[in-house]
Amino acid sequence: MSPSKSPRPEPSSSAPKRGSARTAAGAPPARNSAGAPAGPPVDAARPQIRPKAEGWQQPMDAEGRPKLQFAQPKVKQPPKHLADMTLDERTARATELGISGFRAKQLSVHYFRHYTSDPEQMTDLPAETREQLVEEFLPPLLTEVRRLKTDDGATIKFLWRLFDGAMVESVLMRYRSRITLCISSQCGCGMNCPFCATGQNGLTRNMSSAEIVDQIVQANRAIAAGELDAPNAAEIAEEADHAALGEETDFAESEESAAAGKGASSSSGVGPQRVSNIVFMGMGEPLANYKRVMNAVRRMVDPAPEGLGMSARGITISTVGLVPAIRKLADENLPITFALSLHAPDDELRDELIPVNSRWKADEAIDAAYHYYKTTGRRVSIEYALIKDMNDHQWRAELLAEKLNARGRGWVHVNPIPLNPTPGSIWTSSEPEVMRAFVNRLESLGVPTTLRDTRGKEIDGACGQLAAAEE
Ligand code: SF4
Repeated sequence: MSPSKSPRPEPSSSAPKRGSARTAAGAPPARNSAGAPAGPPVDAARPQIRPKAEGWQQPMDAEGRPKLQFAQPKVKQPPKHLADMTLDERTARATELGISGFRAKQLSVHYFRHYTSDPEQMTDLPAETREQLVEEFLPPLLTEVRRLKTDDGATIKFLWRLFDGAMVESVLMRYRSRITLCISSQCGCGMNCPFCATGQNGLTRNMSSAEIVDQIVQANRAIAAGELDAPNAAEIAEEADHAALGEETDFAESEESAAAGKGASSSSGVGPQRVSNIVFMGMGEPLANYKRVMNAVRRMVDPAPEGLGMSARGITISTVGLVPAIRKLADENLPITFALSLHAPDDELRDELIPVNSRWKADEAIDAAYHYYKTTGRRVSIEYALIKDMNDHQWRAELLAEKLNARGRGWVHVNPIPLNPTPGSIWTSSEPEVMRAFVNRLESLGVPTTLRDTRGKEIDGACGQLAAAEE
């Protein structure tokens, strides 16, 4: 479907932006889902803060626009690992080495089902070939540098060192009915978003498929060792409240993905005992590392011993809007969940907030998201970080609703993301009443909207805030 043309001109760059003109012109007052009035207009006399990198210099291209880096520099690649290969490829490689192909299958069971790379634990393999197999197929990829726990132990942030010293992070979160892992897909990032620590040093390199998958295997190992605690009563109650309202409490928490979580449950029925949901919202732009990310996704969904046997419906790929790759993803014939990090419906702001918008505009990205829905039948998520006085104006909620509704109803869900309050920074959270009004406006215009969960915030582990550093 072609993009809708907004009847209103794009806003001018000078602050303040227009207030809630449409509301002032007589639109019904915003109401929340309970039918209560949304409160007083909040746009009046509010400024328009422009995006700007704080404490670092955004690299610019020859035309003075934020530089984008799609290709990785020529650097040494990580060693090949079992998780880079299909089972057939592993079997063929074992045969080349003069080892029975069956041993490759046994080794795969150890890695994907028992989460081990330790030859001492592989007692079903002949002692003389164990070391050789492990050396050949299971080179160490991720070395744990640090882990931080929060949310009473129900959230863990891991910092990993890769074979070449590059650092990446993943964040593990246990909920009542699922365990979600937020994973990284690149070392650094070439998308140069001014609010994001990950992109500050550009793209170091793409992660290999096995480096991506190994984050999950290592997380499963930690869970199996009892290192991830249950969420506390307050979090369980909050999740239950959301569920009672029929709301999603995470990107991939639909009925289908809840079922995916149950599939990974223990027989005691106390919730999953391994990672059930994946979100590609750690370091890097996953669609800029398309081939390796898709190979990793296949390893996640392939049944053991080929892979981890996870449900594709529990896997969420999030992008800032690489349009050709979104269309390619739609044709993969995998029922994964798709999320578009939009953060602004108007190109004037989005050009500055998400530099890749200079390549593919907001309407093109929304069209590609709609194409994903039409091709796969899977509802897509729009991510929208609410930033004080930058993108949280009522007119933007209205423009967003207009653009989404112009393409149809029931195809999309908006997830506004509350940022951390950061005094003195332009990158700070919207005021609570502004957030509420933004959500209410979208809802009143018929757009399903859920404020996202904020787990992991105290350890800088919330998405978009990941920055690997030993210090
Ligand atoms: S927000 Fe995402 S796409 Fe943008 S620089 Fe950070 S990691 Fe890259």
